[in-house]
Amino acid sequence: MSEERRYSFEFFPTKTEAGHVKLLATAKQLARYNPDFFSCTYGAGGSTRERTLNTVLQLEHEVKIAAAPHLSCVGDSKAELRALLNQYQSAGIKRLVALRGDLPSGMGMASGEMRYANELVSFIREETGTHFHIEIAAYPEMHPQARNFEDDLANFVRKAHAGADSAITQYFFNADSYFYFVERVRQLGVDIPIVPGIMPITNYSKLARFSDACGAEIPRWMRKQLEAYGDDAQSIQAYGEQVISQMCERLLDGGAPGLHFYTLNQADPSLAIWHNLKLPR
Ligand code: FAD
Repeated sequence: MSEERRYSFEFFPTKTEAGHVKLLATAKQLARYNPDFFSCTYGAGGSTRERTLNTVLQLEHEVKIAAAPHLSCVGDSKAELRALLNQYQSAGIKRLVALRGDLPSGMGMASGEMRYANELVSFIREETGTHFHIEIAAYPEMHPQARNFEDDLANFVRKAHAGADSAITQYFFNADSYFYFVERVRQLGVDIPIVPGIMPITNYSKLARFSDACGAEIPRWMRKQLEAYGDDAQSIQAYGEQVISQMCERLLDGGAPGLHFYTLNQADPSLAIWHNLKLPR
């Protein structure tokens, strides 16, 4: 296995103090595995602006793992984004995940000055030069609002060429969709690393709901097996751990440049996969 591979864990900022304490405990547990970075999501429209900022600063300075805030452009003005970039830059943050974001329903159409993530990437480069390593989102199974796969690829290529350094994918359960996506974007002249986003399986009904919304397909053979377990959470987790570990192994054997775990603020499901894969500490 190449030493160059990168491993990262994603958190979401919590609303409650108790949730935040748990997040920090999870981060400290994961920090022992020496990941390349942690990332923290951002509520489009700025709903988590302070919480994302505070979480990232704590991860970076207290947990002492490089932390990457997510930043989204719909619903935020350029002045707000500029202020946030300045805060991150002066706090020593070196990596960002630049997104369009999804406004919560009821907030109407984007009120920000930018409509797509490629504009945000260009804006960050104009404002801060090469200070930040910019991650962008990739969708091996196509973004749910894209008109078609070819359009989505072209939009991804535009976003990468706007100045991205690497990409993290939406989660998926079909390794071939990842390999096909990477092959197609390479043919279109994009050579940045594209790191698979990995969603451990812990709860089937939540996963099914979320996957519908974000356009991640749960293959029939998996869906049927997960449904068959009903309320048996232990079997769902054991099965999930097995199929996701196998998929990760295939991804890494096939040349994926690392893994990014969607932890949902829990350490154990990601670590179970980590141990199965015998990833480095
Ligand atoms: P874009 O790249 O702008 O694409 C959005 C859609 O518009 C696509 O269908 C694309 O094909 C199309 N498009 C792109 N550019 C153009 C153009 N110039 N003209 C016409 N059409 C275009 N959401 C959050 O709110 N907060 C988060 O913290 C967050 N973190 C995420 C992390 C990862 C790794 C991923 C994969 C997703 C994350 N999301 C997050 C979800 C993301 O914001 C949504 O999927 C959103 O709908 C799209 O964001 P994007 O940056 O991929 O958008």
